[in-house]
Amino acid sequence: MTIAQRLDQIRSSIPEYVNLVAVSKTKPVSDLMEAYQAGHRVFGENKVQEMVEKETEMPKDVEWHMIGHVQRNKVKYMASFVSMIHALDSIRLLEEINKQAMKHDRVINCLLQIKIATEDSKFGMTKNEAQSLLNSEAYSECANVNIVGLMGMATFTDNKEQLKSEFDYLKKCYLDFKKEQPIFNTLSMGMSSDYEIAIASGSNMIRVGSSIFGSRN
Ligand SMILES: *Cc1c(COP(=O)(O)O)cnc(C)c1O
Repeated sequence: MTIAQRLDQIRSSIPEYVNLVAVSKTKPVSDLMEAYQAGHRVFGENKVQEMVEKETEMPKDVEWHMIGHVQRNKVKYMASFVSMIHALDSIRLLEEINKQAMKHDRVINCLLQIKIATEDSKFGMTKNEAQSLLNSEAYSECANVNIVGLMGMATFTDNKEQLKSEFDYLKKCYLDFKKEQPIFNTLSMGMSSDYEIAIASGSNMIRVGSSIFGSRN
C-alpha cells in the first residue's frame, strides 16, 4: 500500500473528531510530501533539529507538532512555527517556551505529558505534579503559552486490559483538570499499535507513524 492509501484507511476507520498527527520522524521529505499531496497537513516529529529542517522544505501550511522530549535550549529554533508541543513536563520548560513564544508574538499550544506507562524510560509528570504546574503562579504569568490538554504514552505491551486501564486513567486526569481549565480540548493518546484502544478510552488526537510511513530502522 502507498502512504496515501494507508492514510486513507486510517482516516476512514477513526471518528471525524479525532485529529490524526502523522508521525514522520526519520522519514524523508519525499514521504511527507506524499502524505501532503494526499491532503494531510498535520505532522509530528520528535527531534527539534529534524523538524526545523523539514519545515524549511515543506509547504508553509503544514501544522508541526513536536511530540518528543524537548531540551530547553532547543525551543528557540521552533518557536516561530511549531503549532503544538506535546511533551511539556516542567515549569522551567514552560517558562522557556513562553519566553521564546513572546519573541515571536505568538501563543504556543502545549500539552502536559503524564506518565502512564510502567516503564522507567518514558518521560512525563504525575497527576499531582501536573496539577501544581497548572495552579502555579509561573503558569498564570505565561501569557504566551496555552496548556490545552494532556498527552501520554502507554506501556509497550500487547496486554489490552493494561493499555485500556492506562488510557482510562489519562482520560480521568483530563476530565478532572478540564473542570478548572476551560481551554482544555486535546487528549493526545494512541500510536500505531494502540490507537483504537486509546480512541475507545476518549482520545481525540492520535500520533501515528509506522502504520502510515512504514517501519523505522
Ligand atoms: C514515534 C512516536 C509515535 C508514533 O509511533 P508509531 O508506533 O510509529 O505509530 C507516537 N508518539 C510519540 C511520542 C513518538 O515518539
